[in-house]
Amino acid sequence: MNPSRLISDKARLIAALCVLLSAGFLATTLVSYYVSRDAIRESITATELPLTSDNVYSEIQKDLVRPILISSMMARDTFLRDWVIAGETDVEQMTRYLNEVMSHYGAFSSFFVSEVTSTYYSTKGVLKTVDPNEARDAWYYRVRDLSDPYEINVDPDLANRDALTIFINYRVFDFQKRFIGATGVGLTVDTVNRLIDDYQTRYERTIYLVDGKGKITLSGKNTVDAHGTSRAAYSSITEIEGLRDQAEALLKAGSGSFEYQSQGLRHFLNVRYIPELKWYLFVIKQENRALNSIQQTLYLNLLLCFIITAVVLLIVHLTINHYQRRLETMATTDNLTGLANRHALDILLDQQTREASRHGSPMSAIMLDIDHFKSLNDSRGHLAGDQVLRGIATTLRNSLRASDIACRWGGEEFLVVLANTDLAAATKVACTLRDSIGQNHYAFDGKPIAVTVSAGVTTYRTNESRESFVARADSLLYQAKNEGRNRVCSEKEDIDVSTS
Ligand code: GH3
Ligand code: MG
Ligand code: MG
Repeated sequence: MNPSRLISDKARLIAALCVLLSAGFLATTLVSYYVSRDAIRESITATELPLTSDNVYSEIQKDLVRPILISSMMARDTFLRDWVIAGETDVEQMTRYLNEVMSHYGAFSSFFVSEVTSTYYSTKGVLKTVDPNEARDAWYYRVRDLSDPYEINVDPDLANRDALTIFINYRVFDFQKRFIGATGVGLTVDTVNRLIDDYQTRYERTIYLVDGKGKITLSGKNTVDAHGTSRAAYSSITEIEGLRDQAEALLKAGSGSFEYQSQGLRHFLNVRYIPELKWYLFVIKQENRALNSIQQTLYLNLLLCFIITAVVLLIVHLTINHYQRRLETMATTDNLTGLANRHALDILLDQQTREASRHGSPMSAIMLDIDHFKSLNDSRGHLAGDQVLRGIATTLRNSLRASDIACRWGGEEFLVVLANTDLAAATKVACTLRDSIGQNHYAFDGKPIAVTVSAGVTTYRTNESRESFVARADSLLYQAKNEGRNRVCSEKEDIDVSTS
């Protein structure tokens, strides 16, 4: 077969295998990656974030709903209202009352501000007189004009968010529903803060409590940005890239799952409205941090696929080369004798005749045939015959030059082509071969076998075909047979060198 055709067939096979393996591996790897990614996304939006939201919400309820109830109870308390209506005479009574509320309910502080006297009563007695021009008292005048029964106010003076205090400011009315002041308690929200921090650090989620205007009222200490580094908390969701434009729509929608892009990364957001606080709970998770592990698995898988593909292709390449070499050897070598076969000689002879014609150099051929081989087979058996064929091949190999070619032409016929050799020299070689074979005793089963050969010798004529060149050697061989065997016949002369 044409070697360049074989090479291109092999290249095509390897390319096809490479495409098939790569496509197969790539498809399964990518499909499993996308399936895992979708499952992770689904679990983030459908399970993780709502669960976090539920837990934070129930903690908030525990921490914040209670002070609202306490404040509501204070605003309805008949002692407090009677005491105000009676003219706020005994401050001691009010102080005792506020202390009772604080210690009994574990509040951080408790207070009452009178509309009539503008006095701020605290657990330590009269604290001060509120003044509409004092910025720190603005909350009272806001509460006075409130349409709702109360407001929740995060103390703006507290820089330390650990001790963040939330005041419930409840409006108080007399029995004729006239506004007579504001009362309530203040509470630290350590539990909520701790919970938020815990969720943020352990589960890499960001949690905000957001008021109706988008202002962030509560966030953990360890707010982490998209690149995993701690950063100062935002003060409003409108400062968050990706939420800026949809902030209003989000707050209007109230609760639900949303997605947004921030710093080039996809974020999942769960929003829940907390009616008790009139705030929104935002739980945010970045996709890339959740996908980190499966992304690493993806890269590892791709690397494995690449290595497996490369190893498979290398094995295929080596195997094909190995079998190609074996096939080539099998196609050109005679199995029994290890000499070139007739097919190989045809190719070699074509080259040699072309070169001999081009350079005008002499070239000769010897056709050898074993005498009475059939009777040897008959008397000693085929295996003995085989042994003789192998032995003659060895004799040929040992007697010839490296540039000479010996081939098994047929059953017990050998053709020897001698480059750069004229008829006389070739006839000498033929005689030597005939002598060597005749003198050699090939052994089989421990017993010697003596054989003789006949040979025809011819020389190449320029531009002659390989067939006519060989045919001449063949007819000279038959001439040698006819003339009695164990002899060499050459074109010009018969040389009868009988062995003694
Ligand atoms: P001649 O002297 O005229 O050449 O007689 P011959 O018997 O050698 O010639 P013939 O052509 O009649 O017989 C050749 C025999 O060679 C016949 C065949 O069975 C035998 N032969 C051919 N190939 C093999 C082989 O591979 N092994 C063995 N053992 N015998 C073979
Ligand atoms: Mg023969
Ligand atoms: Mg024969």
